Amino acid sequence: MNKGIKEKTLVLIKPDAIQRGLCGSITERFEKKGLKLVGIKMMSLDEAVLREHYAHIADKPFFPGVAKFMQSSPVIAMCWEGLEVVETVRKITGITKAREAEAGSIRGDFAMSMGCNVIHASDGVEAAEVEVKRFFNPDELHEYDKSEYMHVYADDERE
Ligand code: ADP
Repeated sequence: MNKGIKEKTLVLIKPDAIQRGLCGSITERFEKKGLKLVGIKMMSLDEAVLREHYAHIADKPFFPGVAKFMQSSPVIAMCWEGLEVVETVRKITGITKAREAEAGSIRGDFAMSMGCNVIHASDGVEAAEVEVKRFFNPDELHEYDKSEYMHVYADDERE
């Protein structure tokens, strides 16, 4: 279903970004793009949520390393909202292997590693719906008007 400007996606600020003090710089990228922050919290991830979240790589030899890394400090979970936000955030995020990620993307500008690549971003609209629910209870997602939307979107895009 097309959710228009209410489409949501999940971003996790990973432990490397927390340790390197990059949370503000990363969040600023999404804010400046014109996206709307509708949920944010710091949390420690247990094995069960990591197995679920990374089910598609759970049988890979590098999975134990990923799980250990993702538990090495808390992460910050964020839910961002906007028109075609899932695709937009993936583009801003950059490819998995950060040292080859496009300059200007978050991974391209802030990271050098395959594993330590500073953020997670949902990779499709259906995945985003599942992931937002995995990390946020309904009462942790906020609905509010953003005054700058008048200038972020054209009239027909806001309908
Ligand atoms: P993405 O996060 O870009 O969507 P994947 O879903 O394929 O990438 O992988 C999830 C995470 O697992 C990656 O962000 C990265 O941290 C880690 N990872 C993926 N492939 C490797 C690998 N070959 N070696 C080490 N870590 C990896």
